[in-house]
Amino acid sequence: MGNGIRVKLVNYTKKPLETVTWAALISYWDEWETEAFQRLGEGDVRMHLPRVLGYGHESILEHAVLTFAVEGCSRVCSHQLVRHRIASYTQQSQRYIVLNPEDVEETFVIPEFVKDDPELLAEWKELMKRSIELYRKTLERGGHQEDARFILPQAVRTKIVVTMNLRELKHFLGLRACERAQWEIREVAWKMLEEIARNNELRPIIRWAKLGPRCVQLGYCPEGELMPPGCLKMTRKKWENVAKI
Ligand SMILES: Cc1cc2nc3c(=O)[nH]c(=O)nc-3n(C[C@H](O)[C@H](O)[C@H](O)COP(=O)(O)OP(=O)(O)OC[C@H]3O[C@@H](n4cnc5c(N)ncnc54)[C@H](O)[C@@H]3O)c2cc1C
Repeated sequence: MGNGIRVKLVNYTKKPLETVTWAALISYWDEWETEAFQRLGEGDVRMHLPRVLGYGHESILEHAVLTFAVEGCSRVCSHQLVRHRIASYTQQSQRYIVLNPEDVEETFVIPEFVKDDPELLAEWKELMKRSIELYRKTLERGGHQEDARFILPQAVRTKIVVTMNLRELKHFLGLRACERAQWEIREVAWKMLEEIARNNELRPIIRWAKLGPRCVQLGYCPEGELMPPGCLKMTRKKWENVAKI
């Protein structure tokens, strides 16, 4: 279970790569017609899509959208996620869902750094428990969830549905699968990529569109001077391992 963050690809555009390829073909194939969509096969996709994407014609990627469920990440993470504006989101409400924690770690995300320090961890847990006690007390006194939630730390877990088209997903992964990104949103980004890699229909687009951190997309690290030695090599290797799942 790790730190309890789950990411699942739940739905996507039917025949995603055929859709993108068929859209691309309208530009330069004079026999293009609506019905050509039904005739497009894997061979056509392989013949045209990598080449068109290689030219940098990325707008065609907007014709396929993917919907992910992200469960158990913190509000720290979801806040970073929703900064990506070319996407659609629906998130668990703190006004309608009453928090009813069984235990602190099920309710809050606790960073590994804190877990590795028993004294610090004990203090964190105490404060988290206290915030829940105050949350409950506010409700018991007749307060509504919309007021009680103000006392909750940003570490509180949430659930969010996100729908992105492939072009925005590439942009998102470029920034958030990068080692510069904060660890939790980075974990979400890599889990999204792994979900795509596990899907036979979608997997080829990882290489063709270079879905991954910016060093993979660009062939170099634009923030190289800020990164530790070996980061580029390590990140590319990690990406290669995912791309071939
Ligand atoms: C390592 C890291 C550190 C960060 N630190 C901070 C921080 O300290 N403070 C902070 O506030 N944010 C921070 N951010 C968030 C960052 O500033 C962006 O808000 C976030 O990454 C969303 O990316 P975006 O704006 O490129 O693109 P998205 O919102 O994903 O949009 C995709 C692209 O669409 C285009 N676009 C979207 N909206 C517009 C628009 N209105 N006008 C013109 N073009 C548009 C742009 O080309 C944009 O790149 C950080 C992000 C990272 C990765």
